[in-house]
Amino acid sequence: MVPPILRICDRHATAAGQQIAVWHLRVSQPNVARIPPAALHSMEHFLIDGLRSLSDKVILAAPMGCATGYYIVAEIDRYSDMEQLLSDVLAGIRDATAVPHADPVHCGDAENHSLTAAQRMAQWLMSRRQDWPDPGRDAREL
Ligand SMILES: [Zn+2]
Repeated sequence: MVPPILRICDRHATAAGQQIAVWHLRVSQPNVARIPPAALHSMEHFLIDGLRSLSDKVILAAPMGCATGYYIVAEIDRYSDMEQLLSDVLAGIRDATAVPHADPVHCGDAENHSLTAAQRMAQWLMSRRQDWPDPGRDAREL
């Protein structure tokens, strides 16, 4: 596995029959490199704010504890749909002038942010968009 990779790693059906997919957006190589804390945190804010404002099918975006990427939980199970949604969010980060909700009222560590680092990560992810599909997965899943 060579990040960046975007893929579904788990699926759940709720008792009500709702289909939920757990996506992994892997940014750093596991056990090799970690996303720096301020970048990890600011991108989390951008993802949750951006994904949920563009789609009511996104439930949650959260950083992985290993600091190598993000979980995105959504009622979206088509790769092309998630790829486009994520790309729209990342493209919007380029012109941002502040990290969303990076204030003491909405964030438990409001000092720990970096707009510049989040913008660099977004730009890098966009430049590698063609590499997001995981070649190890069944193409039918994509
Ligand atoms: Zn926060």
